[in-house]
Order: sequence, then structure tokens, then C-alpha cells
Amino acid sequence: MKIHEYQARELLAKFGIPVPAATVVENPVDAARAVEDMMRRRQAKVAVIKAQVHAGGRGKGGGVRLVRGPEEARKAANDILSKPLVTPQTGPKGVTVTKLLVAAGVDIAKEYYLGMAVDRATGCPVLIASAEGGVEIEEVARKNPQAIVRETISPATSLLPYQARKIAYRLGFEGGQARMAGKIMHQLADLFIKTDASLAEINPLVVTKPTDEHPDGIVMAIDAKMNFDDNALFRQQEIAAMADPLEEDPGELRAKRFGLSYIKLEGNIGCLVNGAGLAMATMDLIKLYGKEPANFLDVGGSASEEAVTEAFRIILEDKKVKGVLVNIFGGIMKCDTIAAAIVSAAKDVGFKVPLVVRLEGTNVDVARQILEKASRDIPMLQPAHDLADAARKIAEAVDAAARAKRAAGHKKPSNPPAALKKTTTPARKTSRKRRTA
Ligand code: GDP
Ligand code: MN
Repeated sequence: MKIHEYQARELLAKFGIPVPAATVVENPVDAARAVEDMMRRRQAKVAVIKAQVHAGGRGKGGGVRLVRGPEEARKAANDILSKPLVTPQTGPKGVTVTKLLVAAGVDIAKEYYLGMAVDRATGCPVLIASAEGGVEIEEVARKNPQAIVRETISPATSLLPYQARKIAYRLGFEGGQARMAGKIMHQLADLFIKTDASLAEINPLVVTKPTDEHPDGIVMAIDAKMNFDDNALFRQQEIAAMADPLEEDPGELRAKRFGLSYIKLEGNIGCLVNGAGLAMATMDLIKLYGKEPANFLDVGGSASEEAVTEAFRIILEDKKVKGVLVNIFGGIMKCDTIAAAIVSAAKDVGFKVPLVVRLEGTNVDVARQILEKASRDIPMLQPAHDLADAARKIAEAVDAAARAKRAAGHKKPSNPPAALKKTTTPARKTSRKRRTA
């Protein structure tokens, strides 16, 4: 589960990490008012208006604006709220922005990166840090990976003092700054472990320019991104309450309510499978036959007919889906439950795209009878006898449907003027042949 920056800042503050003062607003007038307020209370000479969306890279997409007064704040807020925000992480269509963070601006001397993640290789949390933080961190990771330091952390002891010191010095911190940075590392590690986070990053962690009051500057967090383990949310009520349904895919939300594991992907073959491993294998085979899966969907071992019908509805509502592959190895899950759901989904929404079904295991004979009986109502259905056969069949059926659609589309415009058709078509053909010869 992801949360917004403003929520991540609340968590940082709760664990003692310094963050600039900030408020959340939803319109330009309130943005201007918040900035006026901040300046009147001398919290800052500049303010930052920041789009609150789950995607990162906002700075590069114009979603983070420095403003010097209320009028600039109003304009910046209006600008960000009035159109979808496109960043390197959102895709070309961008995302809608409904909330803005108005934060006290910070006079930055240097930007660093500090993050906690789970290292799958060691099975341990890992602290990741770099003296080259900021909006180019992905580029640094690619081009200059030695500028990023990693320190494996034991989940039993959390970060140890010598580890924090080592990293602080590797980043070039000295004296008071090293102490402040080390403290933040401990607080971030603590936050990461206690909230069951899977990612907690501060980018940038900054050192502010020195002042009379703070000759070493202050080390503080001005942006944060956090993800949490969905399987731990039952014991993280405070985190679970931070979920923002506006940021989630509506299909994924519905699936969650029915206890289905569904993740939307980019391809056009919808898959309905039981078991995560079988789902992964099914997706691999779809790719092997030259296609891309439209989703990952594991209906689990004990889904009801109602839940499986809902799963079909979710898949078929995705306009990108050009074919559906059902792959069930019945164990605890009974094949006849799936067959009955196919029949009810056919009645309910109808299969207008090819459907290939491979069923094996518990109650497979009953399932086959159900589908046999309903075959006249589901003309798009093709049975398959094994997984490879199913993947091949769905790939072929989707290609055939696309060809048929193209042929139908081509006929229409060239149909009425018959004379034109006779002369232009062969001419184009011959000239093309000559060019290639
Ligand atoms: P992101 O692009 O989504 O990661 O958004 P960030 O909050 O990290 O902001 C992007 C960049 O804007 C930072 O790396 C800073 O360089 C700059 N920035 C953000 N807040 C401030 C601020 O208070 N003062 C100054 N001077 N720059 C800021
Ligand atoms: Mn950032």
C-alpha cells in the first residue's frame, strides 16, 4: 500500500525526524492563504506547492513549485490542479491532482538520499544512502552505482550505532551534521520496522544553509515516499486508514473486496487462474506465444462462484482485453465452481472476446458437462487440454479476431465507389512491388 507525501511526513515527524511545517489544501485560494499565514508567522521566506499523488518524479513534471508570496502560490496551485500531472512515473496520460501540500520552503545547501527497503537477497532490511540525492537519483543509480551505499540491517537489532556512523562519514557528513544524520538514520530504520514498511525513502534529505542560530545547518527531510506490506495492514490500523481510494485502480479495489489478488498490467490477454505460481506460469506462457497479459489474477483456493463471477466482470470491463484465458488446476478450488461462474458471467456481461478454458483436477468432469450444456450460449469458448495448448489457442484466437475486425473495417470505406476501387487498388499493389524489387 502506498501513501501520500503529506502522510509520510506525518510519520517522519512522529518518529522524530525534522520536517518543514506544512498544510494540505484542495484549492488555489486556500493555498494562497496558507502561504500568507506561513510568511506572517515567519516560518519561511519562500514556500513550496507540491502535488499530492502516489507517483514520484513530480519535480520534473512541474508538480513542485517554489513560490515567494500568496499570489504566486494561488497561480501555481491553480496551474497544478487544472490539468493531469505527467511525470516520468505516471505514463503519458498523467494523473489527476486533487490535493496540494503547502510547505515552508527550505534554503538548501546540499541534497542527499536516504532510504530503507527490503533486500530480497539477504532477506533483511537494507539502508540505502547517497550524497547525490535529489531528482536525478535514478540516473545516479544507473550511471554511477558506486555513489550509492548500502548497509544490511539485522531485523533483530535494527540499525547499530557504528553502522549509522559509517554511513554518515561515507556521505561526507562531519561533526554536528554527522550526529543529526546518524540520528535520522536510526529514526528511519525504527519507522521502517515498526510500521511494516516495504519502502521508506527520504529524497531529498537536505542540509540547510548555515545561519547564526544553526551554524552547521539543519539536516531535515523535505520529501518522503513510503510503501507498506499489504499482508501486515491488519496490525497497522493507523497506516491502513491512510489508503486513498482515488489513487487506486477501481478494478483492484473491487477485487480486494472479494478477496481476489488482482493486479492490472499493460497487455491484452485477461487471465483467470488459481494460485500465484500457476498465475505466473500462465503469464510466462502467454508471453512465450507472443502476447502480453492484461492482468495477474489469482482467485485463490476457496473463492465462491460469486467471487469468480466478479473476477470475470473485472477482467471484461477492461477495454484493452481482447481475449481471456482461464487456467484452473482444481485442488481445493473445484472446477465446477469455475464453470458455473463462466456461465453466469456469460449471462451477466457476455463474452464478446475469445475465451479459452483449461480445467484440470477436482470435479473436472462435472465442470465439462456444465460448459458443454452452456456451449450454445458461449460461442466464443474454446476448451484447451493443457496449459501450452491454452496459451497457443488464445494467442491465435485474438490474432484471428483482430484480422477479422481489420477486414471488416477495410471493406466499408472502399465499398461504395466500385470504379475507384478497381483502379486504385491494383495500381498501389504493383507500384509497391516494384519499389521492393
Ligand atoms: P519529487 O520530484 O516528486 O521527488 O519531489 P521533491 O519534493 O523531492 O522535490 C523535487 C525537488 O524540488 C527537490 O529535489 C528540490 O531540489 C526541490 N525542492 C523541493 N522543496 C524545496 C524547498 O523547500 N526549497 C528548495 N530550494 N527546493 C525545494
Ligand atoms: Mn523527491
